Amino acid sequence: MTLNDPITDLKGVGDELAKKLGVLGVHTVGELIDYYPRRYEDYSNIVKIGDIRPGIVTLQAKISSVTSRYVRRGMHITEALASDDTGSVRLTWFNQPYRAAGIKPGADYFISGEYALRRQRFSITNPSAELVSDFPVNTARIIPVYRVTKGLKSGQIRKLVREAVVQAKELPEHLPQWVLDDNNLIVYARAATQMHFPSGNKALELAKKRLGFEEVFELSLAALLNKQAVAHEKSLKVPFKQDLAKKFVSELPFKLTDAQRKVVWQIYQDLEKTQPMNRLIEGDVGSGKTVVAAMAALMAIEQGLQVALMAPTEILARQHADTLYRLLGSVGQADKVGLLIGGLKPKQKELAREKLASGEIQMIVGTHALITDKVDMHKLGLIVIDEQHRFGVDQRKKLQAKAGHMPHVLHMTATPIPRSLALTLYGELDVSILDELPPGRQQIATKITSPNSRAQLNESIDKELEAGRQMFVVCPLIADTETSGGLSAEEVYERVRKDFEGRSVGLLHGKMKSTDKEEAMQKFLNREYDILVSTTVIEVGVDVPNATIMLIEGAERFGLAQIHQLRGRVGRGAHQSYAYLMLEGSQAPSQRLRALETTTDGFKLAELDLQLRGPGAIYGTFQHGALDLRVAKLTDLKLIASARKAAQAFIDKKEPLKKYPRLESKVTALRAITNLN
Ligand code: ADP
Ligand code: MG
Repeated sequence: MTLNDPITDLKGVGDELAKKLGVLGVHTVGELIDYYPRRYEDYSNIVKIGDIRPGIVTLQAKISSVTSRYVRRGMHITEALASDDTGSVRLTWFNQPYRAAGIKPGADYFISGEYALRRQRFSITNPSAELVSDFPVNTARIIPVYRVTKGLKSGQIRKLVREAVVQAKELPEHLPQWVLDDNNLIVYARAATQMHFPSGNKALELAKKRLGFEEVFELSLAALLNKQAVAHEKSLKVPFKQDLAKKFVSELPFKLTDAQRKVVWQIYQDLEKTQPMNRLIEGDVGSGKTVVAAMAALMAIEQGLQVALMAPTEILARQHADTLYRLLGSVGQADKVGLLIGGLKPKQKELAREKLASGEIQMIVGTHALITDKVDMHKLGLIVIDEQHRFGVDQRKKLQAKAGHMPHVLHMTATPIPRSLALTLYGELDVSILDELPPGRQQIATKITSPNSRAQLNESIDKELEAGRQMFVVCPLIADTETSGGLSAEEVYERVRKDFEGRSVGLLHGKMKSTDKEEAMQKFLNREYDILVSTTVIEVGVDVPNATIMLIEGAERFGLAQIHQLRGRVGRGAHQSYAYLMLEGSQAPSQRLRALETTTDGFKLAELDLQLRGPGAIYGTFQHGALDLRVAKLTDLKLIASARKAAQAFIDKKEPLKKYPRLESKVTALRAITNLN
């Protein structure tokens, strides 16, 4: 049996079970072994029957006097006696008629369950019992507890995993021996087994260290290989023209922040090289990334090159085109700016494409429309990707391919990824951080509130709406289901229409067609809606200066960084703005949520999320769940540093990846997801 074998090759796995495992993302034996426990329960402490106390207990005992009967219709009882050299205790199973036949009288068992008083008698109810001579998975050890799905229990998964680790007992090592030696790591076979069935807490720690190291090592290696793959590529040089930059800055209606100055300077230095720029600008919502991009574009245009700015939505693309038209117009370059989006009339699109091919347009702003086959670029030298996490690798690659050679690339994101995470994820990138907001920005008054105060809240909201302002309402879910608890956009939409009778309300969510989404957003922008009920699809940087209220339903269900992004949608105009974080009930808000009332720094909030909820909280704001670190903690800087160092050493030693097939396949998959070249 090998790790790549389909899960159905495992004893006892038929098509039906395979389907359920598929729901959990488990299709092969290897994926089952990689399906790590969510948590553990400690049944390792074996007590003598003479010392037994009420509560969860584990015994080592022989089982005798088994009786099995129906006490009434639909109620079956199996009873038995467990004995060791200090005494006996009663075992009771309800509605498990198969139990009796499975018990071997006289054999040694591990028995785990709750010892308690029931109907005036002490007994252990519905215990797990496993032969000591077997490989016990439910008793007498630290027990793994798995994330389950309908019709598949943790206990079943336990048995399957045991089967898998026993069957695949020659689990091959896939890291180089020197990596293990240098970093004191245990071998894969032991780590995988111990991760599921640890022999003790220390052993579990060692397993986590090894597997966590491996995750970061693979990510780092993927990033380094991506970087290496383009190392020989050459971009066109863009010389820095000081007078032009000065002129541009002097025409701005504001003074650049120090952070903007610093980042622009870093970009200008990159552009002067033939080595392709590959830089990520991280800047909180409103930190002024657009003008930074415009200054990069300015130099490229001056050099006779074309610049393409790709944004995830048509509205955003339009806004960017307007901004660039204004900014570049101040230095006489307005007529170089063009727009290409799906929503244009065919004639307009045709014209834009012609002007692009001829080179008349040097600054093209667009959506995915930019990457269709019909678009030919004349001399594409710089690509700017706004909200980069919204784009897949393929889309970015296609745009690059339009250049015919390697263009310089600037990625921009408002998702505040802590630097440690950014480096691990995107080790091939240079990262610039805009960690300063322009002066005079208004603070968004943020307040946690509960359904009890909804009537009062609605009243004060209505005053704002009456004064001509607008409100976003964001919901954690799209559709009304059994478990949505009234929090889906569909349900909230209905409620809001009743609560704010007479106001016009729009609905926007991810399941809608993209033209309908754009239309809903456009109507809100045009003030045709007073209120827009939506899901997190509005996260992306659209500017609606008249919107001053952000109401977030089921706030505890969101990540901190995500809520921070959402509230950045308001406070973009002259009016005081508000973010209301609505709880689901009257419970006290978490400390996590409270941080939002007092903290306005997106990076601090992201760090906090990372500490409290793990990397998933940050990755959740990206589109690829495949990057989830399941074992490593990104707060474990020592582990990350050593894994990154090992990945660099792997490259320096010129180790052929082919030598390690499993490592190769994992790293190849990661490269495809993370590639930012
Ligand atoms: P984001 O980083 O979220 O993309 P934008 O580039 O959209 O931010 O900028 C937000 C707003 O701040 C815009 O209206 C822009 O003109 C303005 N702005 C940018 N830089 C400055 C600055 N240094 N001082 C004042 N306002 C600025
Ligand atoms: Mg922006």
